[in-house]
Amino acid sequence: FLPHLIASLEQVDQTYIMVKPDGVQRGLVGEIISRFEKKGFKLTGLKLFQCSKELAEEHYKDLKGKSFFPKLIDYITSGPVVCMAWEGVGIVASARKLIGATDPLQAEPGTIRGDLAVQTGRNVVHGSDSPENGKREIALWFNEAELCQWNPAQASWLRE
Ligand code: UDP
Ligand code: MG
Repeated sequence: FLPHLIASLEQVDQTYIMVKPDGVQRGLVGEIISRFEKKGFKLTGLKLFQCSKELAEEHYKDLKGKSFFPKLIDYITSGPVVCMAWEGVGIVASARKLIGATDPLQAEPGTIRGDLAVQTGRNVVHGSDSPENGKREIALWFNEAELCQWNPAQASWLRE
């Protein structure tokens, strides 16, 4: 009873994960979704989407002013992306670990970027860097009607 109560008090967070245009063009969508799916996180939103310059700039607004910003916006708008909302306890930090370092050459083998990419400007995937940004980015990329609240059948096999 007590462990269940404690578990139910654990904070469930949301994170925004996005397969960038290079990941879509290279046929890595299934591979990338699989990493999060197999880990045991819950998918609550998923779509293929061509984003506008305005949306890309809003998404990356904290990086406005960096020298690479214009190229980053060109990259993110260069083709369709796959937008995903995922949910779980500790998901934001865990997803960042699964994704690996920003520079794929520094990313550990076993991570998405470590296994699948070679350059910072073509690092195949995005993941939110804080629970606050997770919420902000999901609200930015999805309408409420595109998000599903559901109870995965495997829940009791993932957590005590
Ligand atoms: N980026 C880049 N050059 C840099 C730093 C970042 O092109 O020197 C791009 C890269 O695609 C990165 C994105 O900008 O994923 C956002 O940068 P951030 O530092 O937030 O890295 P992330 O959170 O994606 O690991
Ligand atoms: Mg970031």
